[in-house]
Amino acid sequence: MSVETMKLTGKPVVDFLRENIKERVTKLSIKDIVPKMLIIRVGAREDDVFYEKSILKNCSMLGIEGTVKELSADASMEELIGIIKEANVNDEVHGIMLFRPLPKHMDQEKISNIINPYKDVDCMSPLNMEKTFEGNSRGFAPCTPKAVVEMLRYYKIPMNGANIVVAGRSLVVGKPLSMLLLDENATVTICHSKTKDMKSVTKNADIVITAIGNAKFMNEDFFTEDSIVIDVGINEDGSGKICGDVDYDRTFGKVKALNPAAGGVGTITTTILLDQTVKACEMFVVK
Ligand code: NAP
Repeated sequence: MSVETMKLTGKPVVDFLRENIKERVTKLSIKDIVPKMLIIRVGAREDDVFYEKSILKNCSMLGIEGTVKELSADASMEELIGIIKEANVNDEVHGIMLFRPLPKHMDQEKISNIINPYKDVDCMSPLNMEKTFEGNSRGFAPCTPKAVVEMLRYYKIPMNGANIVVAGRSLVVGKPLSMLLLDENATVTICHSKTKDMKSVTKNADIVITAIGNAKFMNEDFFTEDSIVIDVGINEDGSGKICGDVDYDRTFGKVKALNPAAGGVGTITTTILLDQTVKACEMFVVK
């Protein structure tokens, strides 16, 4: 049987969030303040450079000043630490974003503990992760989990009291997302690679959010026609095309709502980074 599936695209969510950001940037401009973000990149991985271009484009569109500090791939830890420490105390920098993973010769944990938590708009510092787990909204949550919550909010999909299954328990997506959903009063179940009979778990949920990094692993067999499915997965399908954790073509028309992998949650993530940069600037102003 086939049902009418609502396609959850990221674009209207992004447009909505951008309007809010623009209003806040305008308010700051009245006080002669421009939110500023420093992007720190070690090396020139293709994905990082691509994402950086998108961040800078979005920054200029929204009235945020974005600058990049590029280090060579063989830069020393001391050099990177020096740049972060300088940005930590520089009043002209409100948000700091460092591309990860860092090259193997660098100690990422050490770096995470050095970044100023009040400027850590990409949730690198364990202090911001702790705030996310505490339900303290004054911290900076990881951008992708926040993007999922904003997508549900925008499409008016109730989280309060909903039975939500999160597939994946990484610190990048699954675990912090589960905490954000708990703050929205959802009843959250977390699945992972050792979960037994995942289909029976997902079929009992109102909303299933998948972040497992397994191309087209889920299909209509995991859902019912009332399922709302958010696919965070960005994978390669073996023929060079991007696909999600859900087999979109098989599942669309069999569930209540579903997002495509391209043009879905990922599109919202950058906007969240900029939203958090403006939030860091606002927090700096009232300090
Ligand atoms: P990750 O660190 O590899 O974690 C994957 C998680 O999925 C692990 O907890 C793993 O369980 C679980 N898992 C793997 N295979 C499973 C299976 N067959 N059944 C149930 N659970 C399974 O990945 P990640 O960084 O969280 O990323 C997940 C996906 O989200 C990737 O496709 C990534 O590209 C995408 N992503 C998208 C964005 C975006 O902006 N849209 C951002 C970040 C990530 P165990 O813990 O038991 O190993």
